[in-house]
Order: sequence, then C-alpha cells, then structure tokens
Amino acid sequence: MNNSNYKKDKPKKRFNNSSENGNRSRPSSSNGKPSFNKGGRSRPQKAKQVSNLDPNLLARKAVHTDKVKDFRAERTIEELPINDKLKALLKEKGFERPSEIQDKTLESLLEGRDLLGIAQTGTGKTGAFLIPMIEQMIQHPVQNRTYALIMAPTRELATQIQDEFKTMTKGLNLHSSCFIGGTNINSDFRNLRRTPHVIIATPGRLLDLINRRAFKLDNVNTLVLDEFDRMLDMGFINDVKKTLQLMKSRKHTLLFSATLDRKQEGFIKEILNNPVRVKVSNGETTGDHIDQEVIRINAGEDKFKILTDLMESQQMDKLLIFEEAKFKVKKLTSMLNNIGIKADEIHGNKTQNARQNALNKFKQGKVRVLVATDVAARGLDVSDVTHVINYQLPMTFDSYIHRIGRTGRAGKAGKAYTFVDIK
Ligand code: ADP
Repeated sequence: MNNSNYKKDKPKKRFNNSSENGNRSRPSSSNGKPSFNKGGRSRPQKAKQVSNLDPNLLARKAVHTDKVKDFRAERTIEELPINDKLKALLKEKGFERPSEIQDKTLESLLEGRDLLGIAQTGTGKTGAFLIPMIEQMIQHPVQNRTYALIMAPTRELATQIQDEFKTMTKGLNLHSSCFIGGTNINSDFRNLRRTPHVIIATPGRLLDLINRRAFKLDNVNTLVLDEFDRMLDMGFINDVKKTLQLMKSRKHTLLFSATLDRKQEGFIKEILNNPVRVKVSNGETTGDHIDQEVIRINAGEDKFKILTDLMESQQMDKLLIFEEAKFKVKKLTSMLNNIGIKADEIHGNKTQNARQNALNKFKQGKVRVLVATDVAARGLDVSDVTHVINYQLPMTFDSYIHRIGRTGRAGKAGKAYTFVDIK
C-alpha cells in the first residue's frame, strides 16, 4: 500500500493537547462545539461557513459513545404502550428497543404534544414520529381524511420515509402517498383518488398539487417537518409558510433535525404550541462517533489519484463522495467508471428515476461508489456506508455534519475524509 503521496493529518502531531490514548482533541469553544474562524465578523453567521475554516478542526478521532448501542432504553419494544400489531411489525424490522429519541418522545407525542426533537443523524428520528403517528391512527381510525403531512427537503428522504412507513404499517390498512418533484404528476392525481392517511412530500410538488386543486390541507391536523432547520432555511421557508397557512386545523406540529439554527428559534416558537423539547446526546455536535480525517491536497497534486490510492488503502467497500457542483459530480463518476470502479451519481440535473435508481444500486451494493451533491447530504439512510469523502469542502459546517452523518449509522462504525485544497 502506498499512501505516501497523500498526507493524512496525524492527530498527535497536529494538536499538542492530544490525549494519551491518541484521540484527537479538537479545539473547541466554550460551549463545547468546534470553534470556527469567523473571519473577523463580530456577529455569528447564520450557517457556519466552512470556507475559511481551519481544516484541522475537521480532524477528529471517533469517540465511541455510540448513540444507538450505548443508549439502551429500559423498555423493550414489547413494553411500549402501543398496539400489538405495531410492536410485531417493529420487531420484524429488527427493532428490539426504542432508540433514545424514540424512547424520550413517545409518550408526549401520544398525548398530542408539539415537539422539537434534536438528535444526531442515524438515531431513528423517522421512527420517533412514525410510531406514535401510526399508533394514533390505529386507535382513532381516520375515515376519508388525511391525518398527517410529513414534509422533507429532498425527494430521496421523502421516499425513504414512505418506505419506513410502509414497513411499519404492513397489513394495517393505512395508506400513504409520496409527492415529490421529478415524477409524473398524473400518478399523484391517481394516488389522491384514494385519500391517503399520510402524505409525505417535498414542498414544491405539494404546493403544485394544491394549486391545481388536487387536494386541500384544511382538514390535516398533524404536520411533521423532517430536517426542519433546512425546511426553515431560505430555500423552503416561503413554501413552508404557505403550507402552514393552508393547514387551517393544524393541531399537532413536530419538528425533527440533527441541527438547530439558533436564528430560527423565533419562528419555531411561533409555529409550536407549548412544545416538548427533546435533545438527545449531543445533537448538534453529531459526528463524534465518526472517525474524521483531513487530507491536504497541495497545488499541483493529482486529487483523483489521491482519491483512488486512498480507496485502495482503506478498503472502502461502500463509499459516498460529495462534490460541489453537478457537472463535477458527473465528471468524477465517469472518471471512476473509466478505471473500473463502479460508481453512480445523484444530483439535481438527473431525473428522479435516475436518482432513485442510482440510490437503489448503491443500497444493494451494485455500485461501490455514489457521487453526489449536497442533495444527498441529508437524511439518507443507506446501511453500511463505510466511508464518506468530501472531495470538496462543504459550504457550511451544518452541511459537513449532515454529509458525514451518512456513515456511522445505527450504531455502526464510520469514517469520513475531507479533502482540503491548499493553495
Ligand atoms: P435519522 O432520521 O435519525 O437520521 P433513521 O430514522 O433514518 O435516522 O434511522 C436510522 C436507521 O436505524 C434506520 O435504518 C432505521 O430503520 C434504524 N432504526 C431506527 N430505530 C431503530 C430501533 N429502535 N432499533 C433498531 N434500529 C432502528
């Protein structure tokens, strides 16, 4: 193995204050979060910018306080206050005990409380909102009415939530529809003929359908915003506000994310009614369980060669690579395929079918590498992603956290490398 042509930052050399066991200690601010070079600005920035960040801060050794396995709920799935059929379906999925966020939110959600839930990526947030929602629908069957609307920022995440919903409701006669861009809208019209109990949607398509008078949100009581910090961000906030206006009988609102943007707190207060706040582990500083290393690329070095050498030396079986622009994703994917490394791509220029196919191939192990823009950074749950590589630095620290959160999921080990171009 020859990895001499790339320089992995060795933690012990980097930081004098490395602990004895070799764990990278990372410089942190007083609140325990990584401190960022604020470029001389006096006010904190909305999203922490990574561009002027000291790359050393992205190098850290995984701290094995594994969230799913370290946390052991005192009760088993069998002991949860939910319907036996639902218990059986959860057990069939391999759930033995609720995850921490599920354990800590179940009763409040069953009582109908609003919720602000912050938990690291990969800790079962989807189940945290679906389990009580399904239980409610079993206990109080809804006739010819949509019970809940779940909004997610990406099409893949919406599809994934629907898949999870389907496995959790097998045989329960509960139906869902998933409305996402890039698909044939006529099939959405067909789906709406049988009123779905739950609608899972990305904002654009949802509003498109409403504008075409395909359905109304007047009688939908429950709203879930998954990855809410993204949903309340510039790109989506207007759509979310419109949706909120249209949900005239909204009674129950649930917000889930791994990260919380303090600037959104005012708006969050407005839309939640006396909410329960649940923050498990160290939600915002997620990624502690993922080994993170920085690879410096000096001017003139062959980045692609460094990538392929790294892939060879590190046994990267299932690798997700993030690139910054669609055309660069395309280029990198063909470069990999050209040298015999099976890769596929996900970015905004692809049709939704192609995106879903690429994701499925990656999930099934038919391709070893998935190259993506940030569209794949959030929420995607592909089991056993062994490595994440940031081929380009992400724009913000939150984006970094979401990207690396695609590995090390559900108690598994994960490793992330970030390439930093040294000019
Ligand atoms: P998050 O939304 O927090 O990123 P997910 O809801 O996608 O995480 O869950 C991550 C993975 O863990 C999924 O494959 C999910 O099926 C699995 N999972 C969720 N809850 C449990 C549980 N209680 N026991 C075992 N596995 C679980």
